[in-house]
Amino acid sequence: MFDLSGRVALVTGASRGIGRATAVALASRGAWVAVNYATNAEAAGETLAAVRAAGGDGELLPFDVSDAAAVTAAVEGLVQRKGPLSIAVANAGVNIDGLLLRAQEEDFDRMLATNVKGTLFLAKAAVRSMMKARHGRIIAVSSVVGAMGNAGQSMYAASKSALVGMMRSIAREYGSRGVTANVVSPGFVETDMTAGMSDDARKKLIEMTPAGRIGRPDDVAAAVVYLASNEAGWVTGQVLGVNGGLRM
Ligand code: NAP
Repeated sequence: MFDLSGRVALVTGASRGIGRATAVALASRGAWVAVNYATNAEAAGETLAAVRAAGGDGELLPFDVSDAAAVTAAVEGLVQRKGPLSIAVANAGVNIDGLLLRAQEEDFDRMLATNVKGTLFLAKAAVRSMMKARHGRIIAVSSVVGAMGNAGQSMYAASKSALVGMMRSIAREYGSRGVTANVVSPGFVETDMTAGMSDDARKKLIEMTPAGRIGRPDDVAAAVVYLASNEAGWVTGQVLGVNGGLRM
């Protein structure tokens, strides 16, 4: 089950955290993986090394997901070199916390550009290739915060809940062409993004989580592998919560 041999995958924001774990997990199932990142070439190189250590292969593919022309050019080049893109994981994201009364428009613009527009640009570039191949898996990484809300995260939550409507619309548009579009919605996961969380906040969060722990990047990567698989071909327009039961 979940054999991805022969599939070409692209994971945005794969230099670190959830994206890195996802790239490695897809590769361990046989997918060839393009490792996208924005600036951190050294960390992305470590991801590619981990992809190879898992028995797979891939390449580094740097671009800024908020730059529509760069996304299109990168995906078109990838398809020319490797053939149809089967799996597109829109994982790249940024989070800038702030109470509503202190919200800065430039912070909101940055989150919308990366988290929302970046996902749309990737999906648009990917679906061209997927339609022709009559097979594709588009997976957007949202957040439990998009559904539950969280004090200090109104802007981030807005950027993450937007992905649900986006993926459901894409699911409706391209379902008949063999393309699925789904959302993975993680709870709090141990990565650079959550490294600044206070011990007190962490303790409270664990108490609220039935599984009794913070998530690991691998927890999320496993959900992406499932949605990317042939076996998930009849699953589309769904939100798969991976949050230890924090939201149910
Ligand atoms: P992370 O450790 O902060 O890594 C972020 C990744 O996104 C990095 O690879 C970064 O590349 C890349 N990136 C940022 N802006 C980009 C851009 N404009 N173009 C291309 N790549 C860009 O984040 P994470 O915690 O693994 O989170 C991954 C995704 O899961 C995000 O969408 C996040 O919102 C979501 N999420 C995270 C959590 C959590 O608790 N960690 C929970 C729910 C959802 P560089 O290394 O080059 O900067």
